[in-house]
Amino acid sequence: MQIKVSDLKNSGFDLKLERSAASFPMLAELQRLGRCVFLTPISVVVHANLVGGMVELDGHISVDIEVPCSRCLAPCRRVFSSDFRQTYVDQLPEVTGEDGEELELSAEEMGLELINDDEIDLNEEIQQQVALLVPEHSLCSELCKGLCAECGADLNKEKCSCADNVGNLNFAALKDFKVEK
Ligand SMILES: [Zn+2]
Ligand SMILES: [Zn+2]
Repeated sequence: MQIKVSDLKNSGFDLKLERSAASFPMLAELQRLGRCVFLTPISVVVHANLVGGMVELDGHISVDIEVPCSRCLAPCRRVFSSDFRQTYVDQLPEVTGEDGEELELSAEEMGLELINDDEIDLNEEIQQQVALLVPEHSLCSELCKGLCAECGADLNKEKCSCADNVGNLNFAALKDFKVEK
């Protein structure tokens, strides 16, 4: 999905689209790595506006994602809904530092994106925004007890006997310390 900058008039325009996560390479990769499962298509509403030669995108993204609990690995459904705003420019403005020297700042450092050949790549923006929504860590519940480090039992569902032996294990570990990879 591309937005042609020359098509933008003063009133700007609105765009509504729904795309499957699998059609975005970065999101398909997150899914492949097991970071999350996208349960619904990604739904996007964008308003593009021309402001003094710059293009401002105001968007809203929503998608349902399943993420594994960081402690017990149980899949948890999360409903994500998030606003974003991005400004696109033809060329980067010159920025001078306090000493009058011109500063070499990248578009990213200025919080701007560059317009490529009159076009804005909306797909790129969407996949970046959705990737930001996928959490590094997620808990099914604050009280999640996780998996037993010894036997792998799900401690939310069962009580294993490893905890009873924890004193012995610690003692054994001190006597015969090995780093296992
Ligand atoms: Zn959990
Ligand atoms: Zn155990």
